[in-house]
Amino acid sequence: MTTYLIRNAQILGGAPRDIHIVDGVFAAIGEDLDVRADIDIDAHGLVALPGLVDLHTHLREPGREDAETVLTGTRAAAMGGYTAVHAMANTFPVADSAGVVEQVWRLGRESGYCDVQPVGAVTVGLEGKQLAELGAMHDSAAGVRVFSDDGKCVDDAVIMRRALEYVKAFDGVVAQHAQEPRLTAGAQMNEGLVSGELGLGGWPAVAEESIIARDVLLAAHVGSRVHICHLSTAGSVEIVRWAKAKGWDVTAEVTPHHLLLTDELVRSYDPVYKVNPPLRTAADVEALREALADGTIDAVATDHAPHPAEDKDCEWAVAAMGMVGLETALSVVQQTMVDTGLLNWEGVADRMSHRPARIGRLAGHGRPVSVGEPANLVLFDPAYRGVVNPDTFATRSRNSPYKGMDLPGRVHATFLRGEATVLAGELVER
Ligand SMILES: [Zn+2]
Repeated sequence: MTTYLIRNAQILGGAPRDIHIVDGVFAAIGEDLDVRADIDIDAHGLVALPGLVDLHTHLREPGREDAETVLTGTRAAAMGGYTAVHAMANTFPVADSAGVVEQVWRLGRESGYCDVQPVGAVTVGLEGKQLAELGAMHDSAAGVRVFSDDGKCVDDAVIMRRALEYVKAFDGVVAQHAQEPRLTAGAQMNEGLVSGELGLGGWPAVAEESIIARDVLLAAHVGSRVHICHLSTAGSVEIVRWAKAKGWDVTAEVTPHHLLLTDELVRSYDPVYKVNPPLRTAADVEALREALADGTIDAVATDHAPHPAEDKDCEWAVAAMGMVGLETALSVVQQTMVDTGLLNWEGVADRMSHRPARIGRLAGHGRPVSVGEPANLVLFDPAYRGVVNPDTFATRSRNSPYKGMDLPGRVHATFLRGEATVLAGELVER
């Protein structure tokens, strides 16, 4: 294996240190290390973080390879500083059986850019009627521990209760896309001032909050673990805060776009801003940032949702929902959380690596940058300034809401178990 000597990296934003990577692990860390390596990297001014872990990625394979494949999605992940992603189950066919999750897991291993941990569907075909083969997916080579019908809500309370009871046996978790279906029938954007002015169907905050309230109560009742996907409202934050204060095993994530963008953008009618849950108000954004800072929200998760141009370059009403996000997540977190003084780099490592790995029970990820640990690492240049150009992305899709925006920071290098997947801002061809 190639050996690396990284000079003067600021681990978690601390004082400059040298990092020696040998045989997939951090072999030595210190000042002015007197060691040799195949490749030397000058990391002056770069922040070193543990490899990022995403709890919520849509890789689209099998079935929608025109939007993304496991290979293109994991290349995008590496460019974003990720060393592990959880692949959501809403593929064609749905990842609701051992066969499909093993296929996705194997494709991830073959890509070599990023570990892929498949998420299993909670119900057969994401139809919300009958529990999928949760135990078989857990016992498969993919070792599934996170289950979600993401894209759809598990709205039947009895099915949700059974799923929570079932996954308890193997320390699994149900990740809920909280959306009361009847309250959001025909919804096109956040319900509020802007939807009223534009005359678009509203997606009210209560449709998210009522499901979260029910599910934290259900999780407490059966003594199981629930994870709430993409929190988007101030009220959702309050419910999660209350559940955690009770000591219940509840975790939550927020997307980068909900930390930065608001429903005012919908006035442009540009479908690049159409997403589920929808962009909310400035007050919601403020509450989400505070909750991520104080730990009420455990993790940043991208909800990377690639779509081909024909599904996005159309009328608002018929456009697909979702945005790509793997390659801009760390930059958005720098702008919204670090540059605002809400989180330091240690906090970023906690919310984007340690805690998501812990929630997914991912061994070998989210570990400290210390001697003997697997060398999953990102070197990030926070001083970089640039305009986002989706045409340069590694993802197969171009539906980025940050197109043309100035965002700070750039991934300089990513290492997966001691092998560089990105060097000098470029993918390493494998
Ligand atoms: Zn979702």
